[in-house]
Amino acid sequence: MPEGKRILILGAGFGGLTAANFLRKKLSSLSTSTDYKISIIDQKNYFMMGLVNLWILSGIRTLDDSKIDLNRLGNRRIVYLNNKITEIDLSSKAVKITGSLTPEIKYDYLIIALGSEYATNEVGGFLENGGFNLYDPEQVPKLREKLLSLKKGKIAICIASVPYKCPPAPYEASLLINDILVKNGTRGSIDIDIYTPAPITLPVAGAKVSQDVLNLLNNNHINFHPFHKIRTVLNMEMIEFENGNLINYDVLIGILPHKVPDVVRNSGLVKQGQKWIKVDKFSLKTDYENVFAIGDVTEIKVNENVAIPKAGVFAEAQAKVVSQQIVDDIVNDKNKFSPQRFDGKGFCFMEVGNEKAGYVAADFYQEDGPITILEQPSAESYKMKLDFERSRVNEWLLL
Ligand SMILES: Cc1cc2nc3c(=O)[nH]c(=O)nc-3n(C[C@H](O)[C@H](O)[C@H](O)COP(=O)(O)OP(=O)(O)OC[C@H]3O[C@@H](n4cnc5c(N)ncnc54)[C@H](O)[C@@H]3O)c2cc1C
Repeated sequence: MPEGKRILILGAGFGGLTAANFLRKKLSSLSTSTDYKISIIDQKNYFMMGLVNLWILSGIRTLDDSKIDLNRLGNRRIVYLNNKITEIDLSSKAVKITGSLTPEIKYDYLIIALGSEYATNEVGGFLENGGFNLYDPEQVPKLREKLLSLKKGKIAICIASVPYKCPPAPYEASLLINDILVKNGTRGSIDIDIYTPAPITLPVAGAKVSQDVLNLLNNNHINFHPFHKIRTVLNMEMIEFENGNLINYDVLIGILPHKVPDVVRNSGLVKQGQKWIKVDKFSLKTDYENVFAIGDVTEIKVNENVAIPKAGVFAEAQAKVVSQQIVDDIVNDKNKFSPQRFDGKGFCFMEVGNEKAGYVAADFYQEDGPITILEQPSAESYKMKLDFERSRVNEWLLL
């Protein structure tokens, strides 16, 4: 079979898995005998959707049951390399990896979907004093145990900086923790407090949705503290904020600062003064030919104050747009009349406990400015959230 173009995807997370599967299906359906090689590289050997952290927290899932082996990609004729990427060499169109007999992988098209990492050291004293990183799946089971054993005291949930993944997630976590404590009979003697540097709960979603979220917190006696940027964790009992406030805590839960993976920072794709990869807001093209970047690793500014949030739904939508452009390029269909464009639309389900979730819908590219709404929490939206995860995992890896 003649060999076709080589498509290399960096990162087998939300965006990378969408792209790999989309490309495989589309390219396999072409009426040609050419064999297009689709490869995907990830340092992790499993996939687990980020939102599952919250289900491990609430006890409906375990970490072990939630990890899905990425080797399953082989069943779909997608080459999966379980390696750490150490260099992206844009001039020679190659990527270097560790621990492989083939340390250099060449590409014709490159999709960078490497997500974000946590700058744990930026919050001094956090790890040393036993803080839990809510976004680290390995730490969430221990956090759950700690919450179940707590009889009285203060739980501090600190958003260290923006942007961070899935803006509603810390609020969902607070409501789920509320639920856990109510069921455990300890809620009456435990305070839950959320601290954020932002002035409102969800700046990216605007004032109205932020007020709706605040109402949910108030109704559940969860205290919200805006303008609180954590400076340092002084010891196992006290946090200092940049505004000078000191607070006591018994359990500290952090949403730590996010940053691009080092390999991306060193690639030249993040220009001076920037923190994320800048891409075209419609095509997701970088400044380099046939190199695209999608998902959390990018920053797509919508206006001066708002950027597309770091969420899987956006990584997924962008992956499809990019993959279709690659297919069109391969078959030389310039798609002049309907070019593939990311439309800035997304949604998510915000869990509130008691097997209910609110539905958040957003349209970031509206001419008059971004529009976001939060629908009343319902059991139906909660079921839709369960299905959201299951259907994707089935499509990408299981079925
Ligand atoms: C608690 C929580 C709740 C969330 N809830 C939602 C939700 O309800 N809805 C939603 O849409 N999103 C949600 N998200 C956000 C969502 O998980 C992310 O936005 C999404 O995963 C981003 O996709 P991505 O493809 O850009 O990056 P990722 O999915 O993070 O994938 C990046 C991959 O790159 C790999 N990688 C990085 N560096 C290297 C390297 N040097 N070498 C090899 N591999 C590397 C990583 O191992 C990783 O697998 C949630 C996240 C969390 C933490």
